[in-house]
Amino acid sequence: MDQDRLPDPLLARLAALRAADLPVRGGRTMAYVYDSGLAGLDELAAAAQAAFAGVNGLDMTAFPSVVTLENDVVAQTARLLGGGPGTAGTFTSGGTESCLLAVLTAREHARAARGVTAPELVLPVTAHAAFHKAARLFGLTVVSVPVDPATFRVRAQDMAAALSERTALAVVSAPSYAHGVLDPVAEVAAAAAERDVLCHVDACIGGWHLGHLRLAEGHGTTAPFDLSVPGVSSLSVDLHKYAYTPKGASVLLFRDAALRRHGWFAHASWPGYPVVNATLQGTKSAGPLAAAWAVLQRVGTAGYVRLAERVHAATARLTDGIGRIDGLRVLGAPDASLVAVASTDPALHPFVLADEMRLRGWYLQPQPAFGGSPANLHLTMTAAAADPDRVDALLAELAAAAGRARRAGPPGVDPALVELAAALDPATLGPAEVALALEAAGVAADGALPARMAPVLAVLEALPAALTERLLPEVVSRLYAV
Ligand SMILES: *Cc1c(COP(=O)(O)O)cnc(C)c1O
Repeated sequence: MDQDRLPDPLLARLAALRAADLPVRGGRTMAYVYDSGLAGLDELAAAAQAAFAGVNGLDMTAFPSVVTLENDVVAQTARLLGGGPGTAGTFTSGGTESCLLAVLTAREHARAARGVTAPELVLPVTAHAAFHKAARLFGLTVVSVPVDPATFRVRAQDMAAALSERTALAVVSAPSYAHGVLDPVAEVAAAAAERDVLCHVDACIGGWHLGHLRLAEGHGTTAPFDLSVPGVSSLSVDLHKYAYTPKGASVLLFRDAALRRHGWFAHASWPGYPVVNATLQGTKSAGPLAAAWAVLQRVGTAGYVRLAERVHAATARLTDGIGRIDGLRVLGAPDASLVAVASTDPALHPFVLADEMRLRGWYLQPQPAFGGSPANLHLTMTAAAADPDRVDALLAELAAAAGRARRAGPPGVDPALVELAAALDPATLGPAEVALALEAAGVAADGALPARMAPVLAVLEALPAALTERLLPEVVSRLYAV
């Protein structure tokens, strides 16, 4: 076998496939990816990941290294985010799995501790979609709580009023994904504790950043949001976001091991090996855990504090600069490193602005209008994008793109189409109606999307959410045609 030549065509093919993707490094993709900009960090992470790729976290007695690595990573996370002597935690594959496990654990706890058989999950409307997924998978009823239309924070009294003897878990975000603002964690946690209800803090995206930012010298204190807050029973924080580790890394902290135990699965009633699963996965590569361990050690607390300070300053510069661009405004007052940019001019539509930016090599993530939140673009600021010059370059691009978007005008949506769609019952739509609806929205038969997404997004935004939820899987199903 020719070791030198054999892999080349395969690696070349993979590289060619990647060329069509958004870049994951360089700071111009302002959602989905996190770039520390630190020299050598990716190489270290890749080596650690490769060394542990084949190690199976399913069985910690066969692979005791995973116990050491996980205990180290969880301990470092607990120290940062208000853990005490009894704190317990679990390393998971990502934010969604952490949120799913928080809900599953709370459901089991509510059944065992309070006899709750028809559990409810109390969520601000701004809570991450992962909690709705958890409710669906684990059979909880969602109780949705509106947020303040100006600040996009939930009001503690509204959360308190939504709690009942059926509530398994109340959730707050620190911060929310869509607007980057902190819910009133302490007030909601206190109201939950008063009723003996568990309270989860979703710090998936902001926890690592805010936890280090408050250690920075001269930084005004962030409102308390972590496990040290009375009444907070669990907290999720993604390492594959602001800890800049490779994807597949999150931590779910619990106030104690007894609570954590409610979410575990043990099984000895089959002829195979005895099973204990702390997560939803069975076989799991220790690669992401080893990579996270290595990155956490290498960057260290002082390193993360510096990264958080840079990101914080850049977010302030960006927020301030956007406010000066004619026709644009920032929604709410961002508490962390996430910014939602809306328009003040009906001629300037955020989706058209996103298309204009994408044509110039910047990805800003469209967020359709929902409730009191108008259509906007989401920007995640990361360290690699945080130099003042880079922020100024982004602001200049935004100003120029806003001018072009305004001249192009907003995407037109045929009112007759919307009226027709509103009359459809998503539950009974047949394949022919689905095909017609997608064609009307501008989606090709093979699922291919046009270069300019604004017209498609505008149609989707105008449809009832239940219909969109019926149509989106059809689009994706066309892509995965096999
Ligand atoms: C990213 C995120 C999640 C889900 O995490 P994934 O890692 O994408 O599965 C949950 N909550 C918030 C606030 C997030 O930003």
